[in-house]
Amino acid sequence: MRIRLDDKILMNVEKPARYTGGEWNMVVKDPENVDVRFAFCFPDVYEVGMSHLGMKILYHVLNKRSDTYCERVFAPWADMEKIMRERGIPLFALETKDPVKEFDIVGFTLQYEMCYTNVLNMLDLAGIPLLAEERGKNHPFVIAGGPCACNPEPLADFIDFFVIGEGEEVILEIIDAYKEWKNSGSGRTEFLRMAAKIPGVYVPSFYKVTYNEDNTISGIKPVYPGIPEKVRKRIIKDMDAVDFPEDIVVPFIGTVHDRIMLEMFRGCIRGCRFCQAGFIYRPVREKSPGVLLKQAKGSIEKTGYEEISLVSLSTSDYSCLADFTEELLKLTEERKINLSLPSLRIDNFTIDLMEKAQKVRKSGLTFAPEAGTQRLRDVINKGITEEDMENSLRIAFEGGWNNVKLYFMVGLPTETEEDIAGIADLAKKAVDIYYRIPKEKRAKGLNVTVSTSCFVPKPFTPFQWFGQNTVEEFHKKQMYLKDKLSKVSRAITYNWHDARVSFLEAVFARGDRRVGRVLLRAWRNGCRFDAWNEFFKYDAWMQAFEEEGIDPAFYANRTRDYGEILPWSHIDMGVSQKFLQRECEKAYKGIVTPNCRIQCTGCGSAVFGAGICKTVSAGGNTP
Ligand code: SF4
Repeated sequence: MRIRLDDKILMNVEKPARYTGGEWNMVVKDPENVDVRFAFCFPDVYEVGMSHLGMKILYHVLNKRSDTYCERVFAPWADMEKIMRERGIPLFALETKDPVKEFDIVGFTLQYEMCYTNVLNMLDLAGIPLLAEERGKNHPFVIAGGPCACNPEPLADFIDFFVIGEGEEVILEIIDAYKEWKNSGSGRTEFLRMAAKIPGVYVPSFYKVTYNEDNTISGIKPVYPGIPEKVRKRIIKDMDAVDFPEDIVVPFIGTVHDRIMLEMFRGCIRGCRFCQAGFIYRPVREKSPGVLLKQAKGSIEKTGYEEISLVSLSTSDYSCLADFTEELLKLTEERKINLSLPSLRIDNFTIDLMEKAQKVRKSGLTFAPEAGTQRLRDVINKGITEEDMENSLRIAFEGGWNNVKLYFMVGLPTETEEDIAGIADLAKKAVDIYYRIPKEKRAKGLNVTVSTSCFVPKPFTPFQWFGQNTVEEFHKKQMYLKDKLSKVSRAITYNWHDARVSFLEAVFARGDRRVGRVLLRAWRNGCRFDAWNEFFKYDAWMQAFEEEGIDPAFYANRTRDYGEILPWSHIDMGVSQKFLQRECEKAYKGIVTPNCRIQCTGCGSAVFGAGICKTVSAGGNTP
C-alpha cells in the first residue's frame, strides 16, 4: 500500500521537502525484485538525519546489493505527525512511500540519548508494536546501532537486536542470515538465534538481568547455551578497503551539514577522559591520502556540492595532514570548492591552511579547553596547556579573527569553585590577548562566546562511575560563572546548557533495562523531540519517573563502586574495565596519559589487531 501525500497535506506543513523524497542520487529500485526491504530510520527530523555520515554509508552499502532495497525514514515534525495521526497515515519511507510496517527490517541509528522517545514514536506511527515481545510473524525485525548502542539496556524491551560497533560488514551478514531464515520458513525466535551468532549482534531478550536488594545489578547472563556471555563490538580493520559513498543523496532543502563529508579516520589517539567517542571508536584507523583524494574527486563529480568538509574526531592528528591538505587544496582550488576544516588545533600551520582553504571568509573560531584550570585539564587528560591556549588565541587574533568561541564543561570530577572561576580568567585572557595586538593589526569588534555544557558521565569512559552533579548544583555553578563573566568584559557572551536535559541524558546513558518503562511512560505523557528546546517537557519526564517508581538520581547522580556490575558489563568495546579504572585513578591524582602515538598504554583495543595498535606495538611500546 503506497501512501499518497496530496498537495493539501504538503501545503500545510513546514518544509514539505522533508517528506517528498526524489532527491538527486536517491536510489530507485523495484521492491518486487528484491529479497530484503530495509527501512533505515533516523529518529530525528530530516535535516538532522540527512547530515549524518553513518546513514549515508549504510544506505550505500545496503543498496549496493541487488537483493536488498534500503530506504530512508525520518521522524515527522510535530505538524506532520498531527496530520498523519488525524488521517491515519502510517510512517512511510521516502523512496517508495511504502509503510514502514511492510518492510523486513527496520533499523534505527542511536546517535544521542534524547532521541529515544522518537524511536518509540516512530514505531507507534508505523503501527509496529513497541515491545519486542509483542511482535509476531508479520512484523518487521526492529534493530538498532550507533554510539548509544554501547549501553543498549534502556531500549532492551523495544529492540529485537542491537548491532554493536561499526556496521558496514555486520549489516551484510545480517541480511544474509535473514534471507536464509526467510527461506527456511521457521519462527521469529529462530532468526534471533541465528542473528545472535553473528559477532557484534546483541539480542537483549536472550539475556536475563538480576538485581540486588539495593537495586544494583547482581548478574547479566545469557539464557540459552551458545549465546555469548559478552558481545564484542565490530570494527572495520582496513579503512581503505571499506565502501564509501561518493554518490550521496543531495537534499532539496538546507540540512545541518549540507556538504560532502570526507572521513579521514576513525578513532582518536587522545584519551580525553570525558569523551565517549574517544574510547568507543578505538583504535585509530586512517585512510590513506590517495584514497581520500579519489573519494573527494568522485564525490565532487557525483554530487555537484561546492563544499567539502574533513570528518574525524581530531583533524590535526591525521598523520599526513600537511601533504594531504596540499593535494586536496589543489583539487578544491581547481574545482572552486570550499574546504572546511573542523576539529583543528590552532597553530601557525592551521591558520595558514584555513586562510588558503576559506579565502576571505573569517567565520568564528572554536576552541575547546573544556576546563578553566590546568589542574582540571590534567584531570580530564585534555592534553593542552595554558600556553597552548594563549598561543592559539594570539595566532587567531593576529590572523584577523575577532570572533572566538570557547567551550567548557561544568560538573567535571574533582571540580572546585576555583576551576569555574578559571573559566572566567581564561575568557579574560582572551580579551587581554586581543587588546595587546596593535589596533591596526587586529580585526575590529571582539566577540568572545563562552559556552558551558553539563558534564554527563558516559559508559566506557574513565568517568563512567562518577556521580553527576545535581540539576541544582549545575545551576549554581552556571550562575556563579555568569556573575564572574559579567564583570570581565562586555565583549563576552555566556551560553549555558539546560542542566535538566543533561540529567536525563545521564539517566539514559547509564541506565539499565528498568528505565525503559520510564521511556514508554514519558512518551505516553507526550515526550518526543526531547533534544529540541521547544519540545522538551521536563515535568512530563519527572511524572513518568514517579509513576514508574524509579528514582532518576540512582542512575545519574550516584557514584558507583568499581566492583559494581554495570548495565553494560556484557558489552565489550575493546577498552578494558581495568584500563578505565586505572585512568580514573590517574585522573583523581591529576596524572596525564600520553596519546597512542607517543606511547601505547594498553587500553585493550589491541585485541582488534588494527590501525595504530599494530604500529605502536611494533615500535616497542607495551600493548
Ligand atoms: S592498545 Fe594502545 S595504541 Fe591501541 S588504542 Fe589502546 S592505547 Fe592506543
